[in-house]
Amino acid sequence: MKVIRANSAGFCWGVERAIQVAREEARGGERTVYTDGPLIHNSQMMTALGREDIREVGDYQSASQLDLPQDNEKESVVVVRAHGISPKRRKYLQNLGLPFRDGTCPDVGIIAGKIKSHAERGYDVVIFGDPEHPEVSGLLGYANERGHVITNEEDLHKLPTFNSGVVMVSQSTMFTHEFKDLSLQLSEKYPALVILDTICGATKERQSDLVELVNDGADVIVVIGGKHSANTRKLAKLAASYDKPTFHIETADDIEKETFQSFKCAGVTAGASTPEFIIRSVCEKLKTF
Ligand code: SF4
Repeated sequence: MKVIRANSAGFCWGVERAIQVAREEARGGERTVYTDGPLIHNSQMMTALGREDIREVGDYQSASQLDLPQDNEKESVVVVRAHGISPKRRKYLQNLGLPFRDGTCPDVGIIAGKIKSHAERGYDVVIFGDPEHPEVSGLLGYANERGHVITNEEDLHKLPTFNSGVVMVSQSTMFTHEFKDLSLQLSEKYPALVILDTICGATKERQSDLVELVNDGADVIVVIGGKHSANTRKLAKLAASYDKPTFHIETADDIEKETFQSFKCAGVTAGASTPEFIIRSVCEKLKTF
């Protein structure tokens, strides 16, 4: 079977940076690094990092109190996940009494800064995103109680009436066309709406590369990445919208020869937190089919 791999498949710069920060702090296993929730949304990579004593503590949304092991004799450090956290959570982590390092993706930091500056000037803030996603929970914390999350048109119609300025931003990994459509609808109600397209470059590139896979002749699409990874799930949804059979898998173990018998060319892409060793093993296995 022919295999075409998307150029953008694999780690984005924000994920690479977060891993680098955690590894620097771990100093080759000399220190224990505690990450508040998963550093990135890929369980295989988190397992690999665990071998360097980079340990995930806390919960998926970075909401609960951390129960840090008391019997760890090594020096320890707290590292913030790539998805970022709220200012309240930051204060909490900084008060744990351990060295603290921020692994937040700078693209998420920029969104937080925009929300903060508008909220301080009295704007209501509409965030297009998944209310359950840790990035969105963190961003909401910068909105001074003036934040509202919408995921679709239905949510848009449920928004309260705003009497001050309104700004609309997006979670970094959403669909560009959906953001455009919803922000246009909101601007019909609030003509002075400030629209800030904060979908990150890595996400946009991945979405446009997918179109190229289809144009280059892929008759089946394989999207590799964690089931919790927002950008991977979005890619799988986008691929399916091109009427191509689509498989969202985590590792090469999730694919069987029989399933691919009727296809000639597989287009392979991967989420921003999918490690290279997994992408390579999936491509190699597909080529043998
Ligand atoms: S997907 Fe975008 S926002 Fe998220 S970590 Fe990567 S570069 Fe940063």
